Amino acid sequence: MNLSPVNQLFHSSFNEHKVEVFIKRDDLIHPIVSGNKWRKLKYNLLSAKELGYQQILSFGGAFSNHIHALAFACSQHNLQSIGIIRGEEQYQHNFTLSWAKHWGMELEFVDRQTYKQRNNADFIEELQYQYPNAFIVPEGGSNQLALAGMSEVITELNDQIAYDYLLTPVGSGGTLAGLVKADNNQHKILGVAVLKQQGYLTEEVNTLLKDSAKSCNNWQVLNQFHRGGYGKYKAEDAARILQFSQTTGVPFEPVYSGKMILALLDLLEQGYFEAGAKIMLLHTGGLQGLGGMAERGLISPADWPVPERAPTRSR
Ligand SMILES: *Cc1c(COP(=O)(O)O)cnc(C)c1O
Repeated sequence: MNLSPVNQLFHSSFNEHKVEVFIKRDDLIHPIVSGNKWRKLKYNLLSAKELGYQQILSFGGAFSNHIHALAFACSQHNLQSIGIIRGEEQYQHNFTLSWAKHWGMELEFVDRQTYKQRNNADFIEELQYQYPNAFIVPEGGSNQLALAGMSEVITELNDQIAYDYLLTPVGSGGTLAGLVKADNNQHKILGVAVLKQQGYLTEEVNTLLKDSAKSCNNWQVLNQFHRGGYGKYKAEDAARILQFSQTTGVPFEPVYSGKMILALLDLLEQGYFEAGAKIMLLHTGGLQGLGGMAERGLISPADWPVPERAPTRSR
């Protein structure tokens, strides 16, 4: 079992506000593929195999952490992977998709209009007809099987260290739902929404929780820390994240884990946490995303821990 480690973090703000902060390093699950997407896929892949499927099909943007993780995980499980990608074919050479191709993923590029139908029942049925041997996983991997994978974070933490609060970044809500369900009100769980206008996220999480939604109530989605929207942030936000990485020795990226860090620092300044609180952060990984950001000139590889590119294939 690859149990991800828990580290204590040290920072002047933690002393000032008399809290202890720890981080569950799901970014260290695997050197190349890490984080919550890996956890969310585990039982999807096992179920697909049990049901006799040979392929997994899923959806994502051209820089998707989910697509990257899916391609790798399928290659490990001897399953064929198919990625329905939003955007043009030229993206196949980008950082994320060149890794996906390296691991044998078949890429199908669709326009934005088509991509919008990804959760539409008729569209899924059509795809299933086109790919009869494929087990179809939703975008980001957020389904019931993902919750089972995420629950293992809580099981591991229960054996690792005592804490009061658990913080995680939130995109689609699958990660948060899995944590909330498994935790069963033991800890206060705070989800930091990384997208704008995510008022409906609480509802989304409750939908995924199904029957447990009634009994699980020790959690909350914080909607005020998105910094302008998905993938958006100011230069000073980036500088704060980088400084936090330098102080703590833990790498972060500005789309998910970095926004959780900014939220933590802001919440501390606002006096949100009582003295003596033990705060656990979930590092959901996603550092592969830095590759595509560097490639597009959005970040400087001199500042950020940009991962290695896929080897170019020689034919
Ligand atoms: C997808 C992702 C999230 C958000 O997970 P959801 O289950 O979609 O809420 C958080 N962090 C990273 C690194 C991700 O890739």
